[in-house]
Amino acid sequence: MSREREIEIANNIDEVQEQIASACARAGRSVDDVKLVAVSKTKPIEDVLAAAKVGIRDFGENRIEEASEKIPALNNILDQTVVWHMIGHIQSRKARDVVPLFASVHSVDSLKIARKLSSLASEEGKPLNVFAEVNVSGEPQKYGFEASNWQTDAQQFDMLQQTISQIAQLPGLKLVGLMTMAPFVSDAERTRPVFASMAALRSQLASKLAINLPHLSMGMTNDYTVAIEEGATMVRVGTAIFGARNT
Ligand SMILES: *Cc1c(COP(=O)(O)O)cnc(C)c1O
Repeated sequence: MSREREIEIANNIDEVQEQIASACARAGRSVDDVKLVAVSKTKPIEDVLAAAKVGIRDFGENRIEEASEKIPALNNILDQTVVWHMIGHIQSRKARDVVPLFASVHSVDSLKIARKLSSLASEEGKPLNVFAEVNVSGEPQKYGFEASNWQTDAQQFDMLQQTISQIAQLPGLKLVGLMTMAPFVSDAERTRPVFASMAALRSQLASKLAINLPHLSMGMTNDYTVAIEEGATMVRVGTAIFGARNT
């Protein structure tokens, strides 16, 4: 790989880490409470190596086909162990490939896929950390459990509570929190209510169900600093680290 590309990625990571630190400072939070997941989808193996070289240990991919090629190849080359996060919608027929590749799935968006992953993880004896993906913004094109009106619609909240409770009880899975995607807007400040609602939802569910939901996976290149100010514990950042994607 070109030395220039390596330096570019290292500089980008520095910049993102500085932004994370500033956002944590503004919110009175510790930087240790926010994990950066570098989203390497569509990017070549060399880019992942460059990020790993400067200390990144968590990577996100969103397509099984691509991940099936990249992850085993990278695991062979990398001397440190890295944690692979699945962040994209999983089709049922691809679920089998998830468990051997990923330690963590942020995109559990139906009970059906949760049950499938549960039985596969149990079979393999490889527990999977999972996040329930919730659609807090209510955009129709988004995956995730419907949660746009959870504060005012008691029926919607009941449904969510039941679903989360069922996922939490599935063997082979460890439900660690919630994931969401905010609407893409040019002014990141406008995403704040979505992230705030998500944080409140997490507290409400954890308390009603008496379970721990330690993680909030929220915030991407466009809005991760706002997400951190509202309580994100994992941010999924691609473009700011690896540059724009062609696809
Ligand atoms: C692609 C993707 C990201 C990263 O997006 P950027 O805007 O490039 O930071 C984060 N989360 C999910 C679910 C994604 O699909």
